[in-house]
Amino acid sequence: VHKSHKLGNYVLFDPGMDEEAHRRRTVERMVRTALAEDGFELFYQPIVSARQGTALGFEALIRLPDGAGGYIPPSVFIPIAEARGLIKEIGNWVLREATRQIALWPEPLFVSVNLSAVQFAEDDLLPIIEDALANAGIAGHRLEIEVVESLLLDRRDTVLRQLQDIKALGISIAMDDFGTGYSSLGYLWRFPFDKLKIDQSFMAAFNDGEPNIERILETIIAMGHHMGMKVTTEGVETREQSDVLSRLGCDQLQGYYFGKPMPADRVADTMLRNFAANAQSGMEPQSAVAVAI
Ligand code: C2E
Ligand code: MG
Ligand code: MG
Ligand code: MG
Repeated sequence: VHKSHKLGNYVLFDPGMDEEAHRRRTVERMVRTALAEDGFELFYQPIVSARQGTALGFEALIRLPDGAGGYIPPSVFIPIAEARGLIKEIGNWVLREATRQIALWPEPLFVSVNLSAVQFAEDDLLPIIEDALANAGIAGHRLEIEVVESLLLDRRDTVLRQLQDIKALGISIAMDDFGTGYSSLGYLWRFPFDKLKIDQSFMAAFNDGEPNIERILETIIAMGHHMGMKVTTEGVETREQSDVLSRLGCDQLQGYYFGKPMPADRVADTMLRNFAANAQSGMEPQSAVAVAI
């Protein structure tokens, strides 16, 4: 049955909208099934030291198998899960799974988990995070959380307090997709971020030959450093991008050039061992960031 809109004496049928509603219901059903049957998977993508080229940690990225050997991307199912009241349960699973996994990998590798703004709308986010750490038996410095700028739009005082409480556990806080959002720099300055993640669209602009891209990147990196933050660039796909970012002083790099997101059992032992070797030879762990503001 097609949805209809009454416009004066006319009734307009919109098969496009009907298809979209159908697609959303299908995805919602798949999300509910995955929650009930432990059907989600968590992939891990290395975040590397720009200086050493070795892994410092991994970003956890959720995957929903489509039943045909592929995956429904999170950009499709996360917004639907948020709208249907399912993101909290998903977020709890991701926190549990990511902390359980990082406990199996050598110190001080960290795992970075994306949190939805919807998870901050509940008042039990802090105990959920504390439970995940306790269950995995790990200290807070093994965990990083990533939030996007739109989190800072509403309920700023509450969100600020939540972030301060999370940070007090030793957890590092990263601003994800920096440069695409809406929040003014004035607000950003007031929040306790440890890290800026420059959005991958800047690497796309680099590829497109955007003439000022180096100066733009240099400015963002300097700004992050002035605010006491480490800076990571996402979407690094080529050697050239990696070299330029290293020269500009970017601290950490993430992208297909260093490794695609992969299941935990596909993360090579060498990636984990190289890190342990470097850690022993005096490389500073990422948690050594001092925020001076
Ligand atoms: P994000 O947090 O900014 O994650 C980075 C995205 O860039 C990932 O897409 C990753 O696979 C992709 N990527 C990494 N390196 C490259 C590269 O070199 N080139 C290109 N073109 N892409 C690269 P993915 O896994 O599809 O995730 C998309 C978004 O979904 C994430 O963006 C994040 O916002 C959200 N997401 C993923 N997992 C979770 C989760 O567990 N919880 C929540 N709330 N959101 C999640
Ligand atoms: Mg992220
Ligand atoms: Mg990002
Ligand atoms: Mg993104």
